[in-house]
Formats: sequence, structure tokens, C-alpha cells
Amino acid sequence: MAEVESSSSGPALSEPLKEPEQVEPAAKRPKIETEKNNEKLEHRLGGILCCAVCLDLPRSAVYQCSNGHLLCAGCFTHVLADARLRDEVATCPSCRVELSRASACRNLAVEKAVSELPAPCTFCGKEFARAILQRHQEELCEERITECQFKRLGCPWCGPHHEAKSHAEECPHPNRSGRELLPLLESLDCKSDAQDAIFRQLVNLLSFEKITFNDLQMKPYRTDEFVHKLFYESARFTAFNNQWVVKAFINTKNLRDPTQSSERDMNYQPSESRLLVCNTNLAFKVVLKSKSAPTPLTVHYMILSGPFGDLKVGPRTYVAEFSDQNCEGPVVPLPIPDTNECNRLLASKTFSLRLIMFLVSK
Ligand SMILES: [Zn+2]
Ligand SMILES: [Zn+2]
Ligand SMILES: [Zn+2]
Ligand SMILES: [Zn+2]
Repeated sequence: MAEVESSSSGPALSEPLKEPEQVEPAAKRPKIETEKNNEKLEHRLGGILCCAVCLDLPRSAVYQCSNGHLLCAGCFTHVLADARLRDEVATCPSCRVELSRASACRNLAVEKAVSELPAPCTFCGKEFARAILQRHQEELCEERITECQFKRLGCPWCGPHHEAKSHAEECPHPNRSGRELLPLLESLDCKSDAQDAIFRQLVNLLSFEKITFNDLQMKPYRTDEFVHKLFYESARFTAFNNQWVVKAFINTKNLRDPTQSSERDMNYQPSESRLLVCNTNLAFKVVLKSKSAPTPLTVHYMILSGPFGDLKVGPRTYVAEFSDQNCEGPVVPLPIPDTNECNRLLASKTFSLRLIMFLVSK
């Protein structure tokens, strides 16, 4: 820019009178702009209060770096989890200052300001303050999608709330005979039976003679390979007169099929993208450390959040046989609900879990 101006100094000197004319419209322009912007104050505020990474208005907690750059809770966790995977210090995406749970703080003023900004209802399109929008959409909006009150009798109807009453008056399902409803009841039973099975199995396991639990802290470590891989390992603990550890791995693939999961799946490739953690899951295995297990041990085990952690795990039991030859249990997915929970675990450096083990006596 500077070079262009100096090379065109000749023509500029020949037109000195035009300069005031150029200044006048420049002075008027900001006035027009501010008038336009005043009409959309909420839009301008939205641009200021948005998250520096996703550019969305934060829905819950807002964090700021020590220089004041804003990050929504999700992106804050993402940045910390990313740094953990790369074995780097987390930095603010805007100014690169070091970012950690200790150095960042919440910004309550921004959180409250955002909750006052209007947003449109997804059903009726009317604008409401974000603080009351959720209640409007879930309980009050006449256009919200509702299901028929006879859904459990097999009615598939769903539609806007204001039509639900007239539908219910005409709905044929409450008049169906018991004979017609029987197959439906049976399929409902099937579903709840499957859910009950896991709890019935747990109650059975609790009758075993030898049960032990350990509250473990999973600490991050890196492999010695060329591209360091992150894994977590507990301290050694004693159960059934043997030494054990639990190892956990990052698995960037979808772990739907436990048979496909192995340590090879946890590999992690650094790339340019700042937010690498997607579709991430955690897998774990139980490892027998004692070499002198005299007879094979068949052990059922399960993971719970325990008193020191806030791991969100679903109920799930595993079984493995440990012996001199086979001291490692299978690598199985940690039953956490989604990638967000995985990122939250990665962001929090260490995580705690309770391992309950049930020994099958022979
Ligand atoms: Zn964000
Ligand atoms: Zn910053
Ligand atoms: Zn609405
Ligand atoms: Zn119906």
C-alpha cells in the first residue's frame, strides 16, 4: 500500500482541491453506518460475544483466556483435549497465550448478556431471549412438535401442539381391542427385557464369593514411538491376591464393533486443523501384572464413575480369562455416551473411575 501511494504522488499533488471533497463523504459514512448498526444492536453484540473458535453464541459457560478472548465451554474443552493429544501446551486460538483450567476463567457478564440476546424459536420463528427460549420451545410454543398421547398404544402421529387435541379426539388407537394391542405390548416387553437383563446380570454377579473394587486414577502417558501416542494407565492395584493395571486408549474410529478395536486403532496423526478431536472414543483393557497366577482366573468386571470422578458411563459388564499366557483382557470400548464426554476426559488431564471385579470361583 505504501509503495503505491508514493509512486502516485505526482497525480495526487496535481489534484489538491479534491481532498476536502473526499473527506466529506468519509465523514458522513460513519453516521449512516452507525444508524444502520443501531437497528441491529443484537447482531453487533452477537459478533462481539461469540466464541472465538466456532463463532457461535455460547449456550452455557463462557471461558476467557488471560487476555480476555472468549471460548464456549465446548471449544474450550476441545482446545485442551487437542493439546493433550499433541503433547503440547494448550494456547488461546486468538492470541496464543497459554490456556489451562487454572489460567482461564468464566465470564459471567458475557454468559448473562448472551442469555438476553434474542434467538428465533425453531418451531414458530418468533424471537425470544435465549434464557427463556428453551422453555418456550419445550413447553409453551403452540407449533412445537408433539406426539400423540396414545403413542404407547401404537399411534405414530406427531404434529404441531395446537393440532394434538383435535387429533386425540379422532385417534383410532384408544378404541383398538386388547387382541390388536397384544403384539405391540410384546415388542415393548422385549425392549424393557433387554434393558433389565444387564441389571439382572449385575445382581447375579453381586452374589459371587469374591468381589473387589478399586478406585483408580487414570494418568496420561506417551508411547516411545516416532509419533507419540497418548494412553492412560492406572497405578498398580491388588485384587484377588494379584497385581493389576488398567490401560485406556484413544480410539479415533467408531468403536461400534469391539472385535475391531485394538491398540492399532488408537493412532493419531497430527494435522493442520486445530480441532482434531472428532468421533473420538476411549477403549480400555485390564492387565494382570502378577506372573505367578497359578490357575486361570475368570473375571467379570465393570466400570463406574466412583466417588472421585464424574465419568459418565453406562452399565456394562465384561468378562475375560487371565492366565500366565494371557495376562491382558480384551480392548473394549469405555461405555461413555459420546465424543463430548471423551473430549471432556481428555481435557481434564487425569480421570478417575471405579473398577469392580467379580471372580468366578471354580
Ligand atoms: Zn465455540
Ligand atoms: Zn487470547
Ligand atoms: Zn415457538
Ligand atoms: Zn393418535
